[in-house]
Amino acid sequence: TTISNLSVGDSPLRVKPKNLDVMGEYARANTKNAANFVVIGHVDAGKSTLMGRLLYDLKVVDERTIEKFRKEAGKIGKSSFALAWVLDQTSEERNRGVTIDVAINKFETEKTRFTILDAPGHRDFIPNMIAGASQADFAVLVIDASTGSFESGFQARGQTKEHALLVRSMGVQRIVIAVNKLDTADWSHERFLEIKQQTLAFLTTAGFRSENLSFTPCSGLTGDNVVRKAGDGLMPWYNGPTLIEQLENSEPIRRAVEKPLRMTVNDIFKGGAQNPLSVSGRIDSGSFQVGDSVVVMPSVEKAIIRGIEVDQEPSDWAVAGQNVVLHLSEIDPIHLKTGDVLCSSISPIKNIVSFTAKVLAFDHITPMHVDVHRGRLHVPGRITSLIAVLDKGNGSIIKKKPRLVPPGSLARVKIEVENAVPLEAPTRVILRASGETVAAGLLE
Ligand code: GDP
Repeated sequence: TTISNLSVGDSPLRVKPKNLDVMGEYARANTKNAANFVVIGHVDAGKSTLMGRLLYDLKVVDERTIEKFRKEAGKIGKSSFALAWVLDQTSEERNRGVTIDVAINKFETEKTRFTILDAPGHRDFIPNMIAGASQADFAVLVIDASTGSFESGFQARGQTKEHALLVRSMGVQRIVIAVNKLDTADWSHERFLEIKQQTLAFLTTAGFRSENLSFTPCSGLTGDNVVRKAGDGLMPWYNGPTLIEQLENSEPIRRAVEKPLRMTVNDIFKGGAQNPLSVSGRIDSGSFQVGDSVVVMPSVEKAIIRGIEVDQEPSDWAVAGQNVVLHLSEIDPIHLKTGDVLCSSISPIKNIVSFTAKVLAFDHITPMHVDVHRGRLHVPGRITSLIAVLDKGNGSIIKKKPRLVPPGSLARVKIEVENAVPLEAPTRVILRASGETVAAGLLE
């Protein structure tokens, strides 16, 4: 794929701007929102089963596939695992010698296209979850309501709290809480209320606002109140939304379509006959149309958008929240890398060499070398100073200029990077050292 002779100005690459009123088009099109979420919760809370149930009841997975899983699971005496296997695509893990081509992690309703950002259920879950949380619009917290399980998920070594704090530190504000396996508690209203009260108390102390939290009683195994309403008489005390309705309610409130354009490049495709240079990604904010000029940062080079695809369909325009492929011209591809940011030329993002961030430490942090990751952007850098240790709930200063930040603490740190990079607040960053995530949080 040679791209050196990209002929700038050749007629096939020229496009005639249509000068559309994109906001008007957007309003008329009634575009489906795209919502990305991570699934969090203690091991065995039923995350995989619940997601499998969603996909199955929304007919993303067909009856034959599930039947096949049921048979296989039955052979090893665990037929209840069939639903969990829909998402759990690593065949080594379940050791059953069957491979499936694509991980299913997308489903849609009339209003929304959902993407599940990581397959839950893996043992080595935290790194995946951090990556997922960095792109999440909201989180789904699955809680096991069965006797003793809720309690152990909540204890010191339980993952419920750890995951919640982690997504919070990454700036996720909304959580849909699935009070799951309520079939094992006789669909008891008291049990639901008890779990709701304790979880609410914990999450609000952790800094979540109660209006961004919702609690839905359900069972992933039986499917009650997931996509279909609970069976007759099971929960006479409940007439709220099903889990899927609750997910639709948690569509991101602001889509930032009116803000200046920001789109982080996820992938670059070179050398196509029709389209010599294309990039893909999700539009973080703003909008554009065919014919627009954009600035690529950090190179500060201009490019012209000569074609747009939204969800694999050609389109004349696109807005924040959509996943797109852009065909570009009038830029030499050497100026373009994954992790770059496409911006409006009127107010481009700035390239910076230092910033402060509020991060949750996973390891001891001191002034040290770290790689700074933001989406697919990553650059070598250094934590140059520890400014303060902060209260996890309200963010107030507990200790100024600590010599060391212990794992599990929230801290404000100063970071310098080797080369200027396009970053601006608020954005989620991950700090890694020797292949491990040492901290994650928000650039301020
Ligand atoms: P994960 O580790 O959170 O992904 O949990 P799994 O989905 O693998 O489920 C763990 C175990 O709980 C499995 O044996 C499931 O069959 C069981 N399970 C999951 N959801 C439910 C539920 O709603 N009710 C009951 N009774 N069992 C469930």
